[in-house]
Amino acid sequence: MKCAKCGQSYKSGSHFCAYCGAMTAEGELSLALTDFAKATKHLAKETARIGKTSLQEIKPDFDKAMQTFTKAADQFSLVAKPTARKAMVAATAALQLAAQAANSAAAEIHKASKGR
Ligand SMILES: [Zn+2]
Repeated sequence: MKCAKCGQSYKSGSHFCAYCGAMTAEGELSLALTDFAKATKHLAKETARIGKTSLQEIKPDFDKAMQTFTKAADQFSLVAKPTARKAMVAATAALQLAAQAANSAAAEIHKASKGR
């Protein structure tokens, strides 16, 4: 793997370049995954008490995390080997499905709580 900032090779799996200290694509991906996991957790928690909180309030956070993740995944796939790229595409698709499921579940609960 090559550092996008200084061009030096770094050990696969490193989150920071050993030469210039820049965050690697893997580091950004890991950070984005953490953000995404946090947003998903937040969404699930908020969904549980949707009666009190409007879904619109939490949706931007979730969408932002999803965007960050997709961007990092794109960057990662530029530098990653084809096999890693394939795995990344599959992971992104799975996460998008999970996000859709979470969104529709939240919408259903929101609808149900309104009907009460
Ligand atoms: Zn570097």
